[in-house]
Amino acid sequence: MTLSSSKTRLASLRTELERRNPAEPEFHQASREVLESLAPLFAARPEYAQPGLIERLCEPERQIIFRVPWQDDGGTVHVNRGFRVEFNSALGPYKGGLRFHPSVNLGVVKFLGFEQIFKNALTGLGIGGGKGGSDFDPRGRSDSEVMRFCQSFMMELHRHIGEHTDVPAGDIGVGGREIGYLFGQYRRITNRWEAGVLTGKAEAWGGSAMRPQATGYGSVLFAGEMLSRRGEELAGQSAVVSGSGNVAVHTIEKLMRSGAHALTCSDSEGYVVDEKGIDLELLRQIKEVERARVSEYAERRGASARYVPGGRVWDVPCDVAFPSATQNELDRQDALTLVRNGVKAVSEGANMPTTPEAVGILQEAGVAFGPGKAANAGGVAVSALEMRQNAARDSWTPERVEDELAQIMRDIHRVTYETAERYGAPGDYVTGANIAGFERVADAMLAQGLI
Ligand code: NDP
Repeated sequence: MTLSSSKTRLASLRTELERRNPAEPEFHQASREVLESLAPLFAARPEYAQPGLIERLCEPERQIIFRVPWQDDGGTVHVNRGFRVEFNSALGPYKGGLRFHPSVNLGVVKFLGFEQIFKNALTGLGIGGGKGGSDFDPRGRSDSEVMRFCQSFMMELHRHIGEHTDVPAGDIGVGGREIGYLFGQYRRITNRWEAGVLTGKAEAWGGSAMRPQATGYGSVLFAGEMLSRRGEELAGQSAVVSGSGNVAVHTIEKLMRSGAHALTCSDSEGYVVDEKGIDLELLRQIKEVERARVSEYAERRGASARYVPGGRVWDVPCDVAFPSATQNELDRQDALTLVRNGVKAVSEGANMPTTPEAVGILQEAGVAFGPGKAANAGGVAVSALEMRQNAARDSWTPERVEDELAQIMRDIHRVTYETAERYGAPGDYVTGANIAGFERVADAMLAQGLI
């Protein structure tokens, strides 16, 4: 197959995928990026282009949509929608987080599940791809409301998950509190202590050390690897981080531990820039204890910090940028600003935070760009290590987990870098990650027959 006939085949597949999955722009965006990356692989290795393989990969094995009724503290009944998309289990049980956010719909869950297939393959840890969630908004809800919602959600979800079947974890709006309520309800319904059914648990009852840190730490490690390929290091670099949730907080923490200066954090209402560097203790108090907004940070921090309501965090000049909030939060204009301000590397802590146009601008300008499916794979990697500990009824030290995480991130960086070189796209981590992830899943699917 020539490169041009590969491109034609993949373009017609894309058209068909968009026709069969209407009104799912995020899924179209994520699948388009992968399909576009595969042309050089199809041209060089025709066995991967055989009819049916890529078509199967783009079709979830199973999609579950269910009703989640619950009562708020005042007795009012609410009805939300729950999702679990079990996308691909060729490499292991479906694995991927649950997102609770009003923007969640089937297309969002499918984009996340699709990305997860390749990300999980890149970790090399034997996990398939899936994702789930609900359009429930936990913001402003009391603990007991969140608990009742989680219990109702699990009332249906428990039929579909299991340590050898499908293993959910956290994502936006689902942290340690929600995983606790979900696990408790699963245990109650099934009457089983099945620790490996959910990851992101507290360490006292089956969780792994370093799981909360893993995504943010991994994203910083990936940025460090990209910089070191260019003869630079993280120490001394200024960094802009978006978001103020799990990934952002631990990105900031790891940047500080690496000798870099994290200048910002944000939420959906605005951003904070702190010339002295973000005070992690204060940020944690506000976000994790008080569950308040980042504007509060600037009010309490004093003269070094400024809150910019509704602003773009990417306006702050930096050497390295870490989009760590949500999809499509860094657009064309933001990329132009970052390039103008001399950014050297961008590492995606969030899933698909950079629009395709912005990725093109950054790569064109020679910025090292780490796509989420490689750069933020540390979270799911430590989730897989949590599953290993659960299966062995063991618990590892934080040092051991952190060492393994660092090795996994180095391996992911190496394989994506080398794969990009092999297929004629040196330095293009997007192509490298998509092809390397695809090869691993495709090999397993081919070996397991037409299912
Ligand atoms: P959290 O819920 O802990 O934090 C999310 C952060 O992003 C908050 O600051 C939130 O602000 C902001 N945010 C969410 N939605 C929007 C929006 N529509 N517009 C602007 N800001 C928004 O989530 P995580 O930190 O866990 O996840 C962040 C990203 O990282 C997501 O893309 C997730 O898929 C990805 N990821 C997470 C992993 C994990 O281990 N947790 C693993 C791999 C990827 P606000 O409070 O105002 O909503």
